Amino acid sequence: MKQFDAVCLAILLLLVTFPMRAAQRDAKPAWSADISDIRRVAALIPGRKPLRINILKFAESHRTKNFVVKGEAASPGIQARTVFQVVYADGSVMVDAGMDLPMHKQIGRGADEPYFAEQAQQVDRALRSARAIIFTHEHGDHITGVIRTPYLNELAPKTVLTRAQVRTLETTPQFPDLKLSDEQAQRYRIIDYDQYMAFAPGWALIKAAGHTPGSQMMFITLDSGREYLLIGDAAWHMDNVRKVTGKDAPWIVEDTAAVGDQLTWLNSLSTTERNLVIVASHDDDEHKELVAKKLLGGRLE
Ligand SMILES: [Zn+2]
Ligand SMILES: [Zn+2]
Repeated sequence: MKQFDAVCLAILLLLVTFPMRAAQRDAKPAWSADISDIRRVAALIPGRKPLRINILKFAESHRTKNFVVKGEAASPGIQARTVFQVVYADGSVMVDAGMDLPMHKQIGRGADEPYFAEQAQQVDRALRSARAIIFTHEHGDHITGVIRTPYLNELAPKTVLTRAQVRTLETTPQFPDLKLSDEQAQRYRIIDYDQYMAFAPGWALIKAAGHTPGSQMMFITLDSGREYLLIGDAAWHMDNVRKVTGKDAPWIVEDTAAVGDQLTWLNSLSTTERNLVIVASHDDDEHKELVAKKLLGGRLE
């Protein structure tokens, strides 16, 4: 009889815990990442790691702070439009490709905002001399430089787009001008991966859908050992990370649960990882500080 009781109890426990386990499984975060795994992936490809990372601002958008960080006052703020150049001993890789003046005006939605023509030309030169070009995400200010460009024949074969980025560009581009046909998409190098991918020596890609379906972060270890995380637009300003508070811009539709998880992760990294430099694409305040500290180069090579 005792044995029968034990079996009944076991069945009862199973009946009670099974739905609990299912609920736990369903409650898993919308997004997660593990810095130890990412470090391992970044070390997979042999070769000398990059020597430095440069940033260049080629335009500005003037957005009041309330759009950038939910709950902030409408105080003035500058969004830097930027590209990054990762310099290896034997060549460079561009992260993002900037945009032309018409796209800048379109994104500015009627506002007359600074566009630095000389810097934009430097971006074009750097794209042409790069070994590869890769993207934090598929928004116009990051990708137009390889979609609407007089150098398409030259740039497309070394431009690496993720399957998710291509899907957005083919189906729901931010602006109609960015739309790619299947045939046009085939001119680029299209990659796909699950969570992380080794991209180059010292460099791991981190899938980070949220700001857009095709968003990814770049974890890059330099030859010096210094680590960087280029987070694209997961945060527009590092205050998003510091306050773990997202944007409040009605024209941007995000997966807010995933972005929230990303901000939580970045916030914890920013307090625990002293050797890691987290860089948001548009944070003009942060860029000035990092260039002054020589953690980023302030010009393209
Ligand atoms: Zn964006
Ligand atoms: Zn952007």
